[in-house]
Amino acid sequence: MKPLTTGRLALGVLLATLAAGQPAQAEPPRADNPWYQAAQARLQQLKAGMPRQGKAKNVILFVGDGMSISTITAARIFQGQQQGKPGENHRLAFENLPWTALSRTFNTNAQVPDSAGTATAMLTGVKTRIGVIGVDESVPRGDCAAGQRGRVETLLERAEQAGLATGVVTTTRITHATPAAAYAHSADRDWEVDSAMPPQALEQGCVDIARQLVAFPYGDGLDVVLGGGRRNFLPASTADPEKGKGRRADGRNLIQEWQQGHDKRRYVWNAKQFAALKADASAQVLGLFNPSHLQFEADRGEDIAGEPSLAEMTAFAIQQLEARSRKSGKGYVLLVEGGRIDHASHGGNAYRALTDTVAFSDAVAEAMRLTSEQDTLLVVTADHGHTLTISGYPKRGNPILGLVRHPENNELALAADGKPYATLSYANGPGAAIHNPRQRLDEAAMLEKDFHQPAHVPLRSETHDGSDVAIYARGPNAWLFHGALNQQVIYHIMADSLF
Ligand SMILES: [Zn+2]
Repeated sequence: MKPLTTGRLALGVLLATLAAGQPAQAEPPRADNPWYQAAQARLQQLKAGMPRQGKAKNVILFVGDGMSISTITAARIFQGQQQGKPGENHRLAFENLPWTALSRTFNTNAQVPDSAGTATAMLTGVKTRIGVIGVDESVPRGDCAAGQRGRVETLLERAEQAGLATGVVTTTRITHATPAAAYAHSADRDWEVDSAMPPQALEQGCVDIARQLVAFPYGDGLDVVLGGGRRNFLPASTADPEKGKGRRADGRNLIQEWQQGHDKRRYVWNAKQFAALKADASAQVLGLFNPSHLQFEADRGEDIAGEPSLAEMTAFAIQQLEARSRKSGKGYVLLVEGGRIDHASHGGNAYRALTDTVAFSDAVAEAMRLTSEQDTLLVVTADHGHTLTISGYPKRGNPILGLVRHPENNELALAADGKPYATLSYANGPGAAIHNPRQRLDEAAMLEKDFHQPAHVPLRSETHDGSDVAIYARGPNAWLFHGALNQQVIYHIMADSLF
């Protein structure tokens, strides 16, 4: 009520002044106010920031899978609070990048998109259908023959043909939608391994995504590949070194095939081998650290044979690509995906989504440290959002995973049913079944990593959301990232900077 009263009073004074025929006196700026001072400092910084024109030697694209703007805000508060600081004013690493834009994520046939269509937009420059990889919108999902006609060249294919070094790093299976869109063409994102393909597609000559990776036909092949999904490279008869068996029906061992005839191709599959790797200009590296996806960051310590963090994989990939680049005199293109932010939100589990967002931010921080804005275009974005919301009017400093408390009196805010409610919730997902009918929420449990946020519509898997996502950038041509962009423009800015 207070601001309204003041507003009315001020308006009254203004009208009285005008009626008396005197000029109105403007309020002097509150130069002693810390918010005012902080904004003045920021203004000077903004005015000093000049667009950097010209070509980039290297391009690094970071994709936080499912990293909606609400996820960024919540993760920023979460990390700040974990560091004992006021979270609302905290910054994730990529929030310090100077240029930003909005990205419209829809697929050609879907209002709310999936990772296959969106990654294809970012890596080939054309929007396409939901569920397809590296092909245009003429290809119905699952239509092998149409897929072979509708292929679209990817940024990494172009880069390899131009003699640049290339890399793909992810926390998901390396054959999963986002990384696959860097090197594969498939009418169905689920064709990660031959045993997952319908017989007709195999008869028509379609090749699974894992095989497309090892047989990447451009330049000298991908130079650094780090992620999960080992089972898609091993025969069904072969035991995985950590757990389970391979998934290939054709009996091929793609890891051996990738190494055959190339004595400088190195394969690693656990944390110890990874830690022993050294950047080597003449080597190419394949690291497959889990049969399926890598662990969530919150669970990484519990992995059987150990696995590197996204930040560690990113740092190694950059050093390795830099080494090759020094030798060739040409630059590199690297895709890094924080892929499990998405999976945690599908599970309705904000704790893991936020810890994976923080791990993603740490990976960007490594890239910011290891590269120069003079020659490297760094782009950070998401492929699509999730339905996470930050709601109620919780007081400043309230635990982001907790119950809403009033800003003035610190008391729990109560809903119409007389029960308290959470700041974070999802529009749909498993949380709806768990918390319905609404029970009194146990705040201690809410702060733990296994809590499922309340949700509205019961679904086994929470869905993506269709809101725009953010793009952050620095380096040559980064200033072109401004305004409300269609997602495929990201490719065009990156390609224009390189070629
Ligand atoms: Zn998803």
